[in-house]
Amino acid sequence: MTGTRRCAACGELFAPRPQTPDQQYCSALACQRQRKYRWHRERMQSDPDYRQNQIQAQVGWAARNPEYWCKYRLRNPDYTKRNRELQRIRNGKRIGIAKMDVSDCAPPFPSGLYRLSPIGHEAIAKMGACTVQLTVLPMT
Ligand SMILES: [Zn+2]
Repeated sequence: MTGTRRCAACGELFAPRPQTPDQQYCSALACQRQRKYRWHRERMQSDPDYRQNQIQAQVGWAARNPEYWCKYRLRNPDYTKRNRELQRIRNGKRIGIAKMDVSDCAPPFPSGLYRLSPIGHEAIAKMGACTVQLTVLPMT
């Protein structure tokens, strides 16, 4: 069958399936992944309910799998090293960025509102909890 349409991802010609005449992406695995990723990204920007659901699912997953990123970093020392170096470069470029001692095992929470309450030390334990806005900066 000859192609009649250009794939929105790879640019190759393909023939849309009869069941999906509006098909924009060819059936290659990478192009289908790209389609799903773009759909997800678009929904994250345009649909507050979808975004909230995704964030809650991510927070829930991270809470159920606190060791995931820690183990991932241990399994992938090159990733960890590269990530640290890139972060050092990013930190250097941003003037006034707060120096934070973030543990390698810290779960990757998404941006959003969080309740911040002191733990441990008695003196600061008297402080009340407050709500903070955490913004996860994109990796560029
Ligand atoms: Zn394609």
